[in-house]
Amino acid sequence: MGLELYSFKEIDKIKAASQIVAEVLQRVAENIKPGVTAWDLEMIAREEVKKRGAKAAFYNYKPPFSNRRFPAALCVSVNEEVVHGLPKKERVIKEGDLVSLDFGVVYKGYAGDSAITVPVGEVDEEKKRLLKATKLALDRAVELCTAGNWLSQIVEAVHSTAEEYRVYPVQRYGGHGIGRKVHEEPFVPNNRKDMGKKDIKLRQGMVIAIEPMFSLGTEETVADGDGWTVKTKDGSFSAHFEHTVAITKKGPMVLTEL
Ligand code: MG
Ligand code: MG
Repeated sequence: MGLELYSFKEIDKIKAASQIVAEVLQRVAENIKPGVTAWDLEMIAREEVKKRGAKAAFYNYKPPFSNRRFPAALCVSVNEEVVHGLPKKERVIKEGDLVSLDFGVVYKGYAGDSAITVPVGEVDEEKKRLLKATKLALDRAVELCTAGNWLSQIVEAVHSTAEEYRVYPVQRYGGHGIGRKVHEEPFVPNNRKDMGKKDIKLRQGMVIAIEPMFSLGTEETVADGDGWTVKTKDGSFSAHFEHTVAITKKGPMVLTEL
């Protein structure tokens, strides 16, 4: 099924793309405050990526799961929106929101992909628990990115972290291989139910994007009427964190960390 393996030189190029992703996400996150719109954030992402001479990977991109092209550079998923949120002019950010930003670039022929969830002002304890669990699941999954480990161990680490914090790992959405293309094999599930019969052994040179998405109330999602935005079925809040990670001789290398 064509798993790509990348040389150290190529991983360096994926890292260059990934660093731009991290910088742009940081710039966008710094501008999140009550009163700004999701579209304002899109404009900042476009400007910041252009400054760095890179191409926004999602703009005009047709992902494997869709037959349409995504019309924006940045995914902005607010509160009950889980992933693939279309940045809208009418979506005004307010105190207490959880704003998930998902961004990817292609730079000199290689891709990077990362996501963060930003709390706006003061958020309650439940939302803090959700953020903590999602971030911790990603950290634990990253630790397992060494040659000889199995994909199922990553899935187990993510799912069991959700259980430990009494939150829910969203079904059907997850991470992916990345490198020359933004979405490559294998699929990296967040939920045990999505783990296929065939496990995959992690090998040196594999590069994967790991992206836990948790919600406060359910594993199930529904599609929004805009054709892109995915929401929790019960309207509960969700969080999303993602890193692009290389499996190297020295262990896991997080490429989207500044
Ligand atoms: Mg992403
Ligand atoms: Mg991704």
